[in-house]
Amino acid sequence: MKNILNRLSLPTVLVSVVVLAAGCQCCRNTGASMTATATAAGAEVSAPTKAAQAAMTPQSALAELKTGNARFVAGHPLKRNFPADAKATASGQYPFAVVLSCLDSRQPIEIVLDQGIGDIFSARVAGNVLNDDILGSLEFACKVSGAKLIAVIGHSNCGAIKGAVDSVELGSLTGLLTKIHPAMYQVPADAQPRNSKNLEFVDRVAEANVRLVMQEVRERSPILREMIEQGRIGLAGGMYELSSGKVEFFDK
Ligand SMILES: [Zn+2]
Repeated sequence: MKNILNRLSLPTVLVSVVVLAAGCQCCRNTGASMTATATAAGAEVSAPTKAAQAAMTPQSALAELKTGNARFVAGHPLKRNFPADAKATASGQYPFAVVLSCLDSRQPIEIVLDQGIGDIFSARVAGNVLNDDILGSLEFACKVSGAKLIAVIGHSNCGAIKGAVDSVELGSLTGLLTKIHPAMYQVPADAQPRNSKNLEFVDRVAEANVRLVMQEVRERSPILREMIEQGRIGLAGGMYELSSGKVEFFDK
């Protein structure tokens, strides 16, 4: 909660405290407008603390990613002091989420989700595929470091997906792209042609790939599966649209 409060201007904090004291459960829905107020007032947010991380839930973590993306799309990112945040987090980190996303230079995940130093763990690999090292990193983020949410975010017009659907072979990239092949079979056969010239097909494969990676996380990690089933962490998926800057999170 302190993390959220750090994002708000003083008047907004006072309003928030009153609302919370009244037991209101709708605060997440007002996050965007409150942070807009904070931005307009020039308030500066700071890196999350241990208490702030502990106060987060899987639901509030997802809400913060959504409102952060809304801030990015609106062109109103929160004001940050990166040198101060670097210093403040040097002795410890308390990120509230871990995001697995693509290597693509057009999807810098902290920027598009408007998150600062210490806010989220970020695992990036072409095609946001899963392997043992990435899975271990997710386990570290959640089981060891207390992150409350795993978010897998693919994107439109993904070069890795294009390479996979075209069966590109190139050094070690070949093995990476084969991890995406199962997603191709999730897209019905009526989607033609089934190559990178069909951008709609490419994006449908990218979405299927995100859903398969989410499924793999549950199936391959007993540690994470147990945490999800106990409600201690959440697992979310979404697609980032390059042209709009918007992340569409899946309903389920
Ligand atoms: Zn990509």
